[in-house]
Amino acid sequence: MEPIIEVKNVTKIYKVGNEKVIALDDVSFKINKGDFCCLLGSSGSGKSTLLNLMAGIEKITKGDIFIKGKNVSTMGEHQLAKFRQKYLGFVFQSYNLITSMNALENVALPLIFKEEKVKPRNNKAKEMLIQVGLGERLKHRPNQMSGGQQQRVGIARAFVSNPEIVFADEPTGNLDSKTSKEIMELIKKMATEHKQTIVMVTHDESIAAYANKIVHIHDGQIEKIVEVVNNEENN
Ligand code: ADP
Ligand code: MG
Repeated sequence: MEPIIEVKNVTKIYKVGNEKVIALDDVSFKINKGDFCCLLGSSGSGKSTLLNLMAGIEKITKGDIFIKGKNVSTMGEHQLAKFRQKYLGFVFQSYNLITSMNALENVALPLIFKEEKVKPRNNKAKEMLIQVGLGERLKHRPNQMSGGQQQRVGIARAFVSNPEIVFADEPTGNLDSKTSKEIMELIKKMATEHKQTIVMVTHDESIAAYANKIVHIHDGQIEKIVEVVNNEENN
């Protein structure tokens, strides 16, 4: 298996006044194409920091991160923006939908940045919303939908441009356990259908159980990596 993401000796230090916070301490691991990888650890262990470094949202203090062989740690802002648009999708804990836009408009947004024309854009967005079970909610604004429905819109938006990698930081963090399960099943289904790679942050072991690779993080270091070899047999 070829690695699609390689994290090499990554350290992240935040400076707050005169204090230094070592959020990540010499972390190395690989994620293969098609992996469903969870970064699992308690609050403050460094999970979000790691995800943000991979997505190029934060700057690395030391080390390198390669995605599809490209070093994201050395990319400039413009290059990073293009790279994200082309290869990455994002799902957020608080959905991050645009409140003035309806579901269809929110999902179509990434395609506007990809300069797709109105018609194919709206068709794709509609198709995605049908896939996530919101075919009857196309014109609803975020505040006219439940948390679970809003996250379905978030997922449709993340997957609409068929990105190779989807990053998700605690995507079920604001949802009840039944809805969380539905959302996880949905993410898994979407990723399996298009052989996408998922990197998900969670503090919840029952959520991490959806992954085939679990990276346990503790105090900014990798405690252990657990891999499920034949995922199909377990689902
Ligand atoms: P997790 O996502 O696992 O809860 P984070 O990656 O958010 O943890 O944080 C890891 C550590 O880095 C924590 O001790 C946190 O306080 C610190 N930290 C995170 N972001 C910042 C920041 N912008 N400035 C200073 N310290 C930060
Ligand atoms: Mg976090």
